[in-house]
Amino acid sequence: MPHSTLIEDKPVSSPPVPGAFDGIEKSAEIAVENLHLGGERPSLVGLTRSLLAEKLKDIGVPEREIRMRASQLWHWIYHRGAQDFDAMLNVSKTMRTTLAEHFTLARPEIVSEQISIDGTRKWLIRMPSHGKHDRGAEIETVYIPESSRGTLCISSQVGCTLTCSFCHTGTQKLVRNLTTAEIIAQLIIARDQLGDWPGMTRSASGITPNAERAVSNIVLMGMGEPLFNFDNVRDAMGIASDGEGLSISRRRITLSTSGVVPMIPRAGEEIGSMLAISLHAVRDDLRNELVPINKKYPIADLLDACRAYPGVSNARRITFEYVMLDGVNDSLADARELVRLLKGIPAKINLIPFNPWPGSKYTCSDWGRIEQFSDVVFNAGYASPVRTPRGRDILAACGQLKSETEKLRARTRLMLDSGIGAEGVYALSDDD
Ligand code: SAH
Ligand code: SF4
Repeated sequence: MPHSTLIEDKPVSSPPVPGAFDGIEKSAEIAVENLHLGGERPSLVGLTRSLLAEKLKDIGVPEREIRMRASQLWHWIYHRGAQDFDAMLNVSKTMRTTLAEHFTLARPEIVSEQISIDGTRKWLIRMPSHGKHDRGAEIETVYIPESSRGTLCISSQVGCTLTCSFCHTGTQKLVRNLTTAEIIAQLIIARDQLGDWPGMTRSASGITPNAERAVSNIVLMGMGEPLFNFDNVRDAMGIASDGEGLSISRRRITLSTSGVVPMIPRAGEEIGSMLAISLHAVRDDLRNELVPINKKYPIADLLDACRAYPGVSNARRITFEYVMLDGVNDSLADARELVRLLKGIPAKINLIPFNPWPGSKYTCSDWGRIEQFSDVVFNAGYASPVRTPRGRDILAACGQLKSETEKLRARTRLMLDSGIGAEGVYALSDDD
């Protein structure tokens, strides 16, 4: 099955997998086979065009009608955000009834919504369960409104198999790939919650930009390493950028990778989004510690892949992310080395103040140092914006995401140790 994914200790789809990194692999958990969201009646939300056509064929729609019906459904699901077949006014009543007998337009469940004092919103989303031992993975999606655009930060995996030492997500043990539907559902849920479908009234709570769409940009910077879930991320971004549906241009989609070098050319060719690289260090010895995948794909190889990234130009620069860790990677010599390393690559450098999380061992560089660092980079001719931390009060900032599933695991272990059954655990964890 093309989309069936597993929880395992390595990337799940086609990429050449990073072999044994010392101490950065995690254990297998739950197999995920469903292509679709929803229970007995599958949801059509999140399907690609070809899967949508297949579903119609399965329920006996005649071959000659399939293209037209699939286009109608595509429009209603991805352009209009329909939640009910009865809203599909250009679809005959009989057809609507047949569709409703077999399918739903259900979205995954929103467990909670938090709104930061700066308008950032974080949704904890529970995916449908895949089998009796899976209560449904929980992931976090963050919405960051600015005056003229709204960016949705999407997760590609539950947790992350990598263990970057400054990242909260990296401490989460449970890891599985999200399906295509689970990835795209995050955008659909955001549009639902923000009233961001044509003809809908914008949500009055929180903040939305003064722009046609509340969600105008996507960054794959939530939980997980997107290039370890290549096929599903590619298909989901195909749905997100389709001009007859969700219509987010590929130039407004940024994929951030820790540096899965062999997959970077394919990302350029098949996803065609903007690229961001989590660099964070300019020497291999330090990067091995901060971003352990560097042991497998060192800085020189990573930068070679960036030089060759399809479509890279001064108009389409690669973003290099650099987290500012006090006394670790923030010297002015580091800044100068950064400039030297990036020579010849159309680049911008995004300095990210370190966002602390419970138990983290780093502190953020002080503001004066971040400014000095930024000046060195800027004076060398690179844009060097400092990323304003957003949503810190609700643990929604970069690297702070870590889903409740993890709490559940800890709780489950505790309760099981004390002889209380799992049902009790689930009930309890809902009140956490
Ligand atoms: N796995 C991908 C994408 C998700 S992380 C990647 O690593 O690129 C998105 C960005 O947040 C990355 O640049 C990551 O290094 C950064 N980040 C992680 N933890 C952080 C923290 N605690 N403070 C600031 N940035 C962090
Ligand atoms: Fe994974 Fe990215 Fe966090 Fe590293 S920074 S642990 S790759 S999510």
